[in-house]
Amino acid sequence: METLNERLWHQTTAEDAVRLLESNADRGLDRFEIEARQQHYGANSLPARSGPGPLIRFLMQFHQPLLYILLTAAVITALLDEWVDASVIFGVVLVNAIIGYLQESKAAKALEALAKTTLTEARVVRSGETQSIASTELVPGDVVLLQSGEKVPADLRLLRSRDLQIDESALTGESVPVQKKAIDLASETPLAERRNMAYASTLVTYGQGRGVVVATAGKTEVGRISELISLADVLETPLTRKIAKFSRVLLVVILVLAAVTFAVGVWRGQAKFEMFMAAVALAVGAIPEGLPAAVTITLAIGVSRMARRRAIIRKLPAVETLGSTTVVCSDKTGTLTVNQMTVLEIWAAGQRLTTSGSGYEPNGKIEVRGDDQTEALALTDVSASHAVRHCLQAGLMCNDSQLVLTESKWAVQGDPTEGALIAVAGKAGLDGKQLETQLPRLDSIPFESQHQYMATLHSNKSDDSRHLYVKGAVEVLLSKCQSAMTPSGENCPLDVAMVQRQVEAMAAEGLRVLAFAGKSLPAETSDISHADVGDLVFYGLQGMIDPPRDEAVAAIKACQTAGIRVKMITGDHAKTAQAIAEQLGLDGMQKSSEEAPIVKTAQDLAESSDQQLIDIADQVAVFARATPELKLRLVRALQAKGHIVAMTGDGVNDAPALKQADIGVAMGIAGTEVAKEAADMVLTDDNFASIKAAVEEGRGVFDNLTKFIVWTLPTNMGEGLVILAAIFVGVALPILPVQILWINMTTAVLLGLMLAFEPKEADIMTRVPRDPQAPILTGELIGRIILVALVMLIGAFGSFEWAIGQGYSEIVARTISVNVFVMVEVFYLFNCRSLTKSMFELGVFTNRWIGFGAAAMLILQIAFTYVPIMNHIFHSAPIGWDAWWRILLTGLATYMIVGLEKWVRRKLRSRTPTGA
Ligand code: ATP
Repeated sequence: METLNERLWHQTTAEDAVRLLESNADRGLDRFEIEARQQHYGANSLPARSGPGPLIRFLMQFHQPLLYILLTAAVITALLDEWVDASVIFGVVLVNAIIGYLQESKAAKALEALAKTTLTEARVVRSGETQSIASTELVPGDVVLLQSGEKVPADLRLLRSRDLQIDESALTGESVPVQKKAIDLASETPLAERRNMAYASTLVTYGQGRGVVVATAGKTEVGRISELISLADVLETPLTRKIAKFSRVLLVVILVLAAVTFAVGVWRGQAKFEMFMAAVALAVGAIPEGLPAAVTITLAIGVSRMARRRAIIRKLPAVETLGSTTVVCSDKTGTLTVNQMTVLEIWAAGQRLTTSGSGYEPNGKIEVRGDDQTEALALTDVSASHAVRHCLQAGLMCNDSQLVLTESKWAVQGDPTEGALIAVAGKAGLDGKQLETQLPRLDSIPFESQHQYMATLHSNKSDDSRHLYVKGAVEVLLSKCQSAMTPSGENCPLDVAMVQRQVEAMAAEGLRVLAFAGKSLPAETSDISHADVGDLVFYGLQGMIDPPRDEAVAAIKACQTAGIRVKMITGDHAKTAQAIAEQLGLDGMQKSSEEAPIVKTAQDLAESSDQQLIDIADQVAVFARATPELKLRLVRALQAKGHIVAMTGDGVNDAPALKQADIGVAMGIAGTEVAKEAADMVLTDDNFASIKAAVEEGRGVFDNLTKFIVWTLPTNMGEGLVILAAIFVGVALPILPVQILWINMTTAVLLGLMLAFEPKEADIMTRVPRDPQAPILTGELIGRIILVALVMLIGAFGSFEWAIGQGYSEIVARTISVNVFVMVEVFYLFNCRSLTKSMFELGVFTNRWIGFGAAAMLILQIAFTYVPIMNHIFHSAPIGWDAWWRILLTGLATYMIVGLEKWVRRKLRSRTPTGA
């Protein structure tokens, strides 16, 4: 069998391919054959990318400027016979690398696990039955069905095709979709021109096809070229790049500063070794090397938090952008509404009928509504009105979905709109199974949102005539109808105005209205194309309800409070869209009827220039009968107005709009693979409320990130300043390099990390969206960082000099300085729990991790100060109460100073009327 995989399948005829693979073009593989083949070929998934092994990844951790400096320092210290210091530095380098390695693996694993949750399904014919299976279960010989929107699950030799077009950019880089056809080809055909093949990982953008699997997993074309996507690519975002760049610039500045310090010290006659250690201390202390890693980790935590709230992030930068979103453009059906359709009204040949019953249960009553009375309609009456019967029959026959009874509840398999049509036909007593044998389907044109209709061709067993059924959007169908059916089944002129009045009445109640039509075709017709759908007989209308999701109403309100505008972009009728938008409470929809809320349709906007569209897109909240092109134009217009746009989509044609949007959001359940592939984020529940949740998390992530940066930078700056001050004043160093390493390592883990557990602040969704161009640190925050760094300088330097003045040894004085640094960091951590509010407003106990971290840190400091081995390693010594209360007071003073600064700023802000 192995040689099969090496075959040039495009040169093989379809019949030969099926024969060689021991399959059957119509029935597929036999069920009992599958297991043996699965064992032989293995799962159809791409082999795990063979990235660098754990050892290389671990060694890569040492490839950082800070670690170069540390390693150099360690080697020189060792050469100078300072073995304890050298071992501490080596130890720190090692611990740093281990932490980095573990964190990176965790982040990468989280992302990998998420990638798996979006595995694709494949439709396959086995033992003559069509079924949906995970694409990993496919084996060579399987007969697979393709349809627009799907991802090709394995390499296929096409057996049949209908207008098939495939986007092969994943394989060939060519972005224009390729026409595919089940033809025979000459031998030398390059990959890009093998029109009779469909390759794994490429996307079906149009039409349908059927093919036999010739290669799976690593044997597919994509499996062969599958290259390593490096972790760096996956974990990089504009923010991490910005921070990495900032760190690199800072590194150079600090190295220069360190060299100058060394030179100045030596020139002033200080010992070279001491000056070398001072320069190392400066470099080690002042470079915020942990920052890029902290940012990546915080973003990765954001990704998993969002996943818990049903928003799967496909591209990491989306986590950042979400917090800045100013407009969310959402589909209606299924996202803002529950997507559970029930037909409530039928209108055919002047007769208006209402239905009872709920959900998809095909039992209930159909009643005729007269002007002044309502009378129950017996089945015989339904069959008496030919128009009503044809209207219901068209809904039942021109249909690809099924109703199934699971645990005494009726559910739809397929499209809910179609499910509702089957249920109502059942209420009228139409038997789908019986009709199928009487009118078997010969061909169909599937529903595509750009055509807005579906058509099926049937042969009538009784007289071998052909019949075409069509269902779709009212305007589209009316334009294709020449006449209407009377109650007795005759044809009469079509009164378009009357139909439209009915549609408006139904749509104004929020009903989704579909029109039904059909015609007879010549007996020899065996297939249909769009050209056959014309000259139709109009049968009637069916209006179905699809109530808004309760949680969408709440989420829209939350978005509005958060300064985010919500727009509905739907394929539905303008009136239906308007009614639903009113129920949802969209912007501008609560106005009185005189100032009729503005709903624009794609047709209204067809004539508008891109320039005009900029203002319309900004002002109008509802866009109806939207086409994928309109979606794309709207995203561009909103972006031109300066908005950060999140746009939802599910269809193949939505891909360009999803790519263009700042956050493309695809539907996990109803969405096509093409849409998911183009999106930045996938909703696992298709629910609008999950977009709001993701925005909320996005804001939270950014908040915590800023808090971490504001907390960590003063330490680097403070340590740098203390060293510089000591050299320039010409006194002994108040802290040594090993002590700086101790401070930076322990506080980052025990204190800084705890900020990541800070719950989202209560007002997070009442703030205006963050300007993505704005720097992370505002002037205000930079001011605070400098303020705290100065407190550290004065506190540490001051207490060092005080201790020396008291006659304490340098060792004791340094121990006091180190404790001052740590204590200031502990107290300041409580300030950093919020950038604007005090800890008491947040709730003192809302983040217990902070308390645990601070307590653990204090215990470590006691060990640092009193445990002999620690004294030996870190050049520390026991200190007395006179020092401790000074240390505590410095910490407390920091908390008070920063608290006061926040308070003053709050007061100033509340005085400025804009509250900016
Ligand atoms: P959304 O609000 O998510 O854009 P929508 O369902 O209203 O979704 P489309 O799916 O593009 O938008 O449908 C547009 C119109 O096409 C519907 O209003 C309906 O008239 C018609 N339609 C929808 N589904 C079908 C179907 N399965 N067969 C035929 N016509 C359909």
